[in-house]
Amino acid sequence: MEFVDLKAQQSRIENALRARIDSVLAHGHYIMGPEVRELEQRLAHFTGASHVYTCASGTDALLLPLMAWGIGPGHAVFVPAFTFFATAEMPALLGATPVFVDVEPVTRNMGAESLEKAIARVRREGVLKPGAVIPVGLFGQLPNMKAILQAANGIPVLEDSAQCFGATHSGLRACNTGADVAATSFFPAKPLGCYGDGGAMFTNNDELAARLDSLRIHGKGKDKYDNRHIGINGRMDTLQAAILLPKLDIFPQELMARQQVANWYKAALPSRLERPVLPAGTTSSWAQYTVLLPDTEDASARRDAVQQALVQLHIPTQVYYPTPQHCLTVFAHLGYRPEDLPVSLNLSRRILALPMHPYLAQNEVECVCGALQDAL
Ligand SMILES: *Cc1c(COP(=O)(O)O)cnc(C)c1O
Repeated sequence: MEFVDLKAQQSRIENALRARIDSVLAHGHYIMGPEVRELEQRLAHFTGASHVYTCASGTDALLLPLMAWGIGPGHAVFVPAFTFFATAEMPALLGATPVFVDVEPVTRNMGAESLEKAIARVRREGVLKPGAVIPVGLFGQLPNMKAILQAANGIPVLEDSAQCFGATHSGLRACNTGADVAATSFFPAKPLGCYGDGGAMFTNNDELAARLDSLRIHGKGKDKYDNRHIGINGRMDTLQAAILLPKLDIFPQELMARQQVANWYKAALPSRLERPVLPAGTTSSWAQYTVLLPDTEDASARRDAVQQALVQLHIPTQVYYPTPQHCLTVFAHLGYRPEDLPVSLNLSRRILALPMHPYLAQNEVECVCGALQDAL
């Protein structure tokens, strides 16, 4: 059993993939070839966002909007404590200070109330200036963006939808939720992945769009030798765009297949494991299917034992994330105590990600659930 089965998907669309790759080899425009623009148009259509710019990775898709806003030393950037490192790493790279916000136990996403409190604290202390908020759609589920935007109260919001492309919340679609700009990743194991690194930025703001387009190509003006800003080489390869096009064709079907797998898990998991819950009016892109082990002192040791038992049966599992951001060595100088963000800390000790991809069969899901029952 695969944790994420990219081969099953590949054999389904192999002809289309090869035709697309061949066509790039034939025209030879490896940088900013026609497939890049085609993909951006398709992504704009899929999300409803007016401007889409692809870029070299999800990490660059976070970096470029922060650069466009001039985020740097003296700025506080509010990020969830429970996320992938890049969300906090990019503001820190620019010299800003990540301010960690706790997540909600059910959605595992940044809570609007915790965000409001963190913003109020930073304003009260008066040392840092609020620069940006980066809510994350963890494991495939969008945060309540309406509540987050209200709490942000005018502070620029960058939606990190690297894991939740394709998800919806109260009629809003990931990457077009009202945030100033959104970022996604096409890392191979994400819900929509290419065969290398890739990412995209989405906005409805014309001015910001023009700046993002410039920054991803060395701060270009009317051409790439008319440099007007300090930018980066942040372009997506034409080959990656060509690979994403046939994958996007089957993406809506894959989202439904992932929901089916989630339904099978929900029905067959041992009752002692806490299942993920989708609030009413939301859909998930199920980047991960995560369960929580019982809330005991030795939860993380028990989790190790469960993983070991499953490995014996060739069932791969993963821990996303074993260390919340505020406990990472790299952020030790910020002076957080582990218990400052108790929900993130608790999740990091109990969470376990199970195999999840659109090509899992019901009997495989039931096999995982049976193995978990025995291991517990
Ligand atoms: C994967 C991921 C990123 C980074 O994307 P890359 O394409 O790997 O650079 C950023 N944020 C979150 C939440 C992610 O899961």
